Amino acid sequence: MPRTPFGTIVSRALKLRCPRCGAGPLFRGMFRMYDRCSSCGLKYERAPGYFLGSAYINYGVTAVLLTVAYVVLHFGFELTNRQLMAPLMTLVVVFPLAFFRWARSWWLAMDCYIDREGFESDQPEET
Ligand SMILES: [Zn+2]
Repeated sequence: MPRTPFGTIVSRALKLRCPRCGAGPLFRGMFRMYDRCSSCGLKYERAPGYFLGSAYINYGVTAVLLTVAYVVLHFGFELTNRQLMAPLMTLVVVFPLAFFRWARSWWLAMDCYIDREGFESDQPEET
């Protein structure tokens, strides 16, 4: 089976869709995921604690966003630290919650891209 192009994997991640087939949704609510893809049967949580890695993505993106926001607002717009405290504190609380789904989707998509054989061989158990 040919490797799924990187652009396709990224597109599926941005749309919060199954990285293997692109059809099944990952989430059924703001924070709740489906166990498996409704289309191809891919198990989303590959192992216990699998999505811990997505917390690092979320943390990293939030840290970069905070740093850029601080530098631009403090040095570009000359806002004081006191003026920036409340808005940036709000940013570091709200942004990770809003970004939660994309961090998990990105983590799953990157794993699917790197571990192609593991994702191709995953099939739902026969019942
Ligand atoms: Zn699928």
